Amino acid sequence: MLRSFLIYLSKAGWARRLTTALPFARRTARRFVAGESIEAALQAVGELNKAGMQATLDLLGEHTQDSAAANEARLQIQQLLTRVAQSGLRSNVSIKLTQIGLKLDEALCAQHLKAILDAAALLGLFVRIDMEEAAHVPATLRLYRQLRAAGHENVGVVIQSALYRSEEDVLALLQEGARIRLVKGAYMEAHEVAYPRKKDVDAAYDRLADLMLHASIQPGLERGREGTWPPLAAVATHDTSRIEFVKRHATEIGLPKEHFEFQMLFGIRREVQTQLVQEGYGVRVYVPFGREWYPYFMRRLAERPANLWFFLSNLLRR
Ligand SMILES: Cc1cc2nc3c(=O)[nH]c(=O)nc-3n(C[C@H](O)[C@H](O)[C@H](O)COP(=O)(O)OP(=O)(O)OC[C@H]3O[C@@H](n4cnc5c(N)ncnc54)[C@H](O)[C@@H]3O)c2cc1C
Repeated sequence: MLRSFLIYLSKAGWARRLTTALPFARRTARRFVAGESIEAALQAVGELNKAGMQATLDLLGEHTQDSAAANEARLQIQQLLTRVAQSGLRSNVSIKLTQIGLKLDEALCAQHLKAILDAAALLGLFVRIDMEEAAHVPATLRLYRQLRAAGHENVGVVIQSALYRSEEDVLALLQEGARIRLVKGAYMEAHEVAYPRKKDVDAAYDRLADLMLHASIQPGLERGREGTWPPLAAVATHDTSRIEFVKRHATEIGLPKEHFEFQMLFGIRREVQTQLVQEGYGVRVYVPFGREWYPYFMRRLAERPANLWFFLSNLLRR
């Protein structure tokens, strides 16, 4: 109930205007967002690199309403890629297709995506396409495949274990040599398309992780290119039971640690991130930044009620 309400608020214009006007909300969001500028984000990545972790940078923004905004987002992402390459930091970039026009016109979005991948390829960088609401999954996979078929190797996708369709998607994508980030799924979906119960989402997560780890055994798929390119399998979760399952299973099938990586969000379970690095696993942290932090922040509140109580109790104490 609470989760659905917060996800609803994440999309409500009135709630966005109200929350983003509160200086306190902005400060609280800083727990999950590296800052509003590229400089702040690069500094956060530098600190992660020093701590032995790689990063993926996300210029916040989604559900762009007009083609001028989609064009502007594309230019800013290209600028971000240039800055990452110049900095020499170990990071790649994650993008959302609705930020570059997916909801406006699929062909326009394809053009922007191509321009971004071209720019990234020249700089030797990898781009991950985040997965958004279930309604966007078919078009997202279609555009991913279109660009792969056109020769773009420097791109990967995200699969959500919450969706019934994901097992079929993973099997097909692994056949195609796709680099996949596995997540549980951050959106509220209808029971017709997604498991309503958390335990089923978790069980599906383990099944899909198992498929991805098996596919990663082949040599040549190890962690590559100074941390900017991810391996085939990226296991993105803060759930220690899922993490333990992956560690145990990888050991059982003899999969070297270099053939997969763990991914976590900036500011969440830092102690687990550090512990994994100490154990010799690859860890990549997703570092969001920019002014469009509201929907991202609300999804993080929705994931864990304790975050919401922290936010509200601090608000009331002011
Ligand atoms: C690197 C990365 C990229 C992602 N990309 C996408 C994407 O493209 N599309 C998409 O739909 N989703 C994405 N997600 C979000 C994902 O789908 C989940 O919503 C999110 O990771 C929470 O699920 P969990 O696997 O951590 O498990 P959960 O069972 O939700 O959480 C396990 C434990 O982790 C801790 N935890 C989890 N979330 C929080 C939080 N917000 N604040 C504090 N503690 C928390 C808690 O201790 C919790 O008990 C991404 C997640 C990561 C880590």
